[in-house]
Amino acid sequence: MKAVQYRQIGKGPEVVEIDIPEPGPGQIRLKVTAAGLCHSDWFLMDLPEEQYSYGLPLTLGHEGAGIVDKLGDGVSGVDVGGAYAVYGPWGCGLCHACAQGAENYCPNAADLGIAPPGLGAPGAMAEYMIVDDPRHLVPLGDLDPVEFVSLTDAGLTPYHAIRAAQHKLYPGATAVVIGAGGLGHVGIQILRAISAARVIAVDLNDDKLALASEVGAHETLVSGPDTAARIRELTGGRGAEAVFDFVGAQPTLDMSREVVAIDGYIHIVGIGGGVLPTGFFSTPFGAAVRAPYWGTRSELQEVFDLARVGEVSVHVERYGIDDAVSAYQRLHEGTVRGRAVVVP
Ligand code: NAD
Ligand code: ZN
Repeated sequence: MKAVQYRQIGKGPEVVEIDIPEPGPGQIRLKVTAAGLCHSDWFLMDLPEEQYSYGLPLTLGHEGAGIVDKLGDGVSGVDVGGAYAVYGPWGCGLCHACAQGAENYCPNAADLGIAPPGLGAPGAMAEYMIVDDPRHLVPLGDLDPVEFVSLTDAGLTPYHAIRAAQHKLYPGATAVVIGAGGLGHVGIQILRAISAARVIAVDLNDDKLALASEVGAHETLVSGPDTAARIRELTGGRGAEAVFDFVGAQPTLDMSREVVAIDGYIHIVGIGGGVLPTGFFSTPFGAAVRAPYWGTRSELQEVFDLARVGEVSVHVERYGIDDAVSAYQRLHEGTVRGRAVVVP
């Protein structure tokens, strides 16, 4: 089968031919119908050898959907031929966090060698993929896999962050979304769907800001040295009750600190390598800084339910597997509008 793999440090993704995997006991094989590209894929492909820990070769793709094609021994409750999306942050399944469906915060996964598909385990950017357990499947129902596969990360991750800040997002409050890319453009829609807050989107790129407006941002601002002052102005000096930084680089974290309101929340979602030091006098009274990771199983069901009622969609650029390398190139250059999705 064809697969998109990261094989050699510094060399970027390659399309290769590998064997079709067999599901082991308890596992499920999917015939992949869609796989989304995430900026985190570039985070790991940009790591120097001494910091790279995901194994090689690595089949990429942590946003996956497919048709159940074969069941391993002992699997029941899953329909062969059924269409599912894959919940990616796999945990041990037994600890307190996993019992709540928060496998994204499983403290045992790393020690047990459990890694998400595409971020350690073989991912979705291939004709077939293996899913370790039926609990990691979410039925797609009528939702088109290509249009909605990216809800598994570009939807779930902002949803998880926004839900944790929801009590700050009262009518009259302001939410700032920094980075209107794959995650950000879905995050804006989630904010509009589950809160009455005013949404200000910030990006470097005019086209991303145009998309931010199309999907519901009330205001859009070009990211730069004056942006924080402009947000203060727009909020009557108060600042933003919640800031969602989908970049996480030093300039955006500095901006986050400058715009957060008293008792507000900063959620650092982007892994751009910046740091935001907090201390009694370095952030406003009561302000909290959090670095959330992905989301929970029940939250993924909720994101798909938001899609079912038409509140959330993904702006998709569709690619065949042979064009995956150029799709990754576009993501690297920052020219993907919304999310790039590979259809193997
Ligand atoms: P993306 O490339 O689709 O979007 C990033 C957006 O940020 C682009 O629109 C870009 O123009 C904009 N941007 C870049 N620098 C900026 C700046 N200085 N000011 C304002 N905007 C700026 O990326 P994505 O796939 O949406 O991922 C966003 C980030 O979230 C990445 O760092 C990714 O690794 C991370 N991520 C984190 C988690 C998590 O669990 N915390 C999950 C998925 C992705
Ligand atoms: Zn991701």
